[in-house]
Amino acid sequence: MRAALYYDRKDIRVEDVEEDTVGQGQVRIEVDSCGICGSDLHEYTAGPIFVPRDDPHPLSQETAPIRMGHEYSGVITDVGESVTDLEVGDAVAINPILSCGECRQCREGNYHICDSIGFLGLSGGNGGFAQSVVVDEHHAVPLGDDVPVEYGALVEPLSVGLHAVRRSGLQAGDSVAVFGSGPIGLAVIQAARAAGAGTIYVSEPRQARRERAADCGADVLVDPSSTDAVEYITSNTDGGVDVSFEVAGVEASFNDAVQSTRPSGTTTVVSIWEEEASTHLNNVVLGERTVTGTLAYLGGPRSDEEYGMVIEMLGDGRLDPDPFITDRIGLDELVDEGFERLIDPESDHVKILVKPNE
Ligand SMILES: [Zn+2]
Ligand SMILES: [Zn+2]
Repeated sequence: MRAALYYDRKDIRVEDVEEDTVGQGQVRIEVDSCGICGSDLHEYTAGPIFVPRDDPHPLSQETAPIRMGHEYSGVITDVGESVTDLEVGDAVAINPILSCGECRQCREGNYHICDSIGFLGLSGGNGGFAQSVVVDEHHAVPLGDDVPVEYGALVEPLSVGLHAVRRSGLQAGDSVAVFGSGPIGLAVIQAARAAGAGTIYVSEPRQARRERAADCGADVLVDPSSTDAVEYITSNTDGGVDVSFEVAGVEASFNDAVQSTRPSGTTTVVSIWEEEASTHLNNVVLGERTVTGTLAYLGGPRSDEEYGMVIEMLGDGRLDPDPFITDRIGLDELVDEGFERLIDPESDHVKILVKPNE
């Protein structure tokens, strides 16, 4: 079968690989769709970051080359011995979190901030840019009858957005500002909308992404390359929004996010950073503002907490992945039509889904 392997920065190859056998407690999944994520792009342009290069990842025991792709869905085609909750034919979304189950965070149920945190498709394990994968059963979360299998590939990024909103302390009616409307920014906007947010401001320099933000429920769109976002937002909100989200991973947008938030408000940083950022901490101290970070999503080893919420919200329409999906490509086009187009600053693409079996 065909699968994409990450060897190194700018070196991802689609190759013929052996299919894994299905062991006890495992399932085989024929992949329907696998999204290309911002983290994948970071690995491609500036990595390896999560991908283990010199030392094997403590949970996967793998080093590069690893099979890539962590946002995927598919249909179960084989179940191993002792699997009881899943059947051949079930459509599933993959929860890719690898956690040790033993560290203090895992013992407290916070698998997503495990000391050894890893992700299938980034840290080893098995990635979804492949025709089929074999994973331990707890990674496979049933989609049920109301969610198309393709949408299952968006459960992962939507869960990142839901988790950020749940951790932010956002209350119904709160004003919100989101800095950056790539895929995770859009997921935050939809989750904030579903949580009953008041006015949602979005600051995003790319016009195509501002339009998608509007499709996801943003009320006011700001282009920070022509408008002073801090001045605009603070003057329209009596001194700042209640809650802001930094989803760009850029120093200027972090500083804008803090300064667009009212005294005593909260800024949640959701992005992964390639470089250090500089800030004036008096913006935090003098207004008693809170700055906090969120990673991934809650759930696992049974995988169902925030994943289950997202699947339910996809089923009843509170979350809608259609504004995210800008193209669908084959596996052999992964680099040229996927990664290269997404890193092009002129590109209008948001989420490109790879369809390994089409
Ligand atoms: Zn991702
Ligand atoms: Zn742990």
